[in-house]
Amino acid sequence: MGTGRLNPPSGEAAKQERMAAWEQLQRDIVQCDRCPRLRAHCRQVAREKRRAYREWIYWGRPVPDFGSPQARLLIVGLAPAAHGANRTGRMFTGDRSGQWLYRALYRAGFANQAHSESRHDGLELYDCTITAVCHCAPPQNRPTAQELANCRPWLERTLHLVPFRVLVALGQVAWQAVVRHGRSRDWFSGPPPRFAHGAVVPLSQGRWLLGCYHPSQQNTFTGRLTEEMFDQVFTTARKLLEQSPTRNAPCHG
Ligand code: SF4
Repeated sequence: MGTGRLNPPSGEAAKQERMAAWEQLQRDIVQCDRCPRLRAHCRQVAREKRRAYREWIYWGRPVPDFGSPQARLLIVGLAPAAHGANRTGRMFTGDRSGQWLYRALYRAGFANQAHSESRHDGLELYDCTITAVCHCAPPQNRPTAQELANCRPWLERTLHLVPFRVLVALGQVAWQAVVRHGRSRDWFSGPPPRFAHGAVVPLSQGRWLLGCYHPSQQNTFTGRLTEEMFDQVFTTARKLLEQSPTRNAPCHG
């Protein structure tokens, strides 16, 4: 006699199962040490610190996902910044990229405030979760191909757990990781889509993939990405969610 479940869990039970799996995923990420170079770098940055943050106790560990496992908007970034999320322990928190991101999320109604300084600043996301293709701060913001491959299982578990309707890939590297995953899951009806800022790609099961330049200083200081361009992506995400037929329907990636 098998011990498998006869019927899938529904309603509150399914929600609790997802939450338990989500919490386990975040614990697994934080304890991960698959990339010796990145772990050593994060620890070194945490020890040496930047003068402006010398009073801080740096996080110095892999940075978990931020948000709810029930969210319909999933944002995929690149990696924590050495003195940003590697210091504060929360995605996009404590650096200029994060200032851009949370301002835009606030304007589009996905966050309760426009600023993010620490894990204890009261910031909440609404119907939105943020992850990254690499959970440890890499030297020069450049993870190696092997390090991205090491981190891929965390992204895959996140994509599997979060019942997203709209997925925003911040930058080419995040886009490629998402497309790679999507190809193995038959998300695309045609050839794999190419990255472009403003790209809007329909996925299977009524979901969408949006392309967006990463709000790194390289893009924002040079004007390659303006706040208007950034806002447009989240306005599009909001519109697509409003058209979405169901709220938080299970939709495994
Ligand atoms: S980058 Fe990812 S796989 Fe590598 S140590 Fe950090 S969490 Fe683990």
